[in-house]
Amino acid sequence: MDNCLFCKIAEKKIPSSIVYEDEELMVFKDIRPAAPVHLLVIPKTHITTLSDCTAGHAPLLGRMLALAPRLAEEHGCAVTFNADGEPSGGYKTLINSGPDGGQEIYHLHLHVIGGPHPWRVEAPRHG
Ligand code: 5GP
Ligand code: ZN
Repeated sequence: MDNCLFCKIAEKKIPSSIVYEDEELMVFKDIRPAAPVHLLVIPKTHITTLSDCTAGHAPLLGRMLALAPRLAEEHGCAVTFNADGEPSGGYKTLINSGPDGGQEIYHLHLHVIGGPHPWRVEAPRHG
């Protein structure tokens, strides 16, 4: 897709801090991190938004989501449980879709946001 920032990042025409790459996916650090860990998981091929996805995209979407815990582990924000069963660590997985969903870049991406608080991520608004 011409003139798509994340396509250019996927093609390495624009530099980014790449932390993972395979044939289908790329993961790089968000340029404006909202938390100590803020990664963006993208498909290398252009998909404009989640609303363009159908059941046929389920394997790709599944691989994107399944990568999140592995990335969290590698970046020190996995969810762990102590001997009393108390959880610690953790991260958010987020896909913004469309203007009302807060999407700024129109190339599908999954945010993986984690690490110790405080974070800059806005609290969800209700109503
Ligand atoms: P969205 O609001 O579309 O869900 O998220 C877009 C994200 O892309 C934002 O968190 C923003 O900081 C990040 N971003 C925008 N431009 C660039 C860039 O050139 N490089 C990187 N690494 N991240 C970017
Ligand atoms: Zn693109």
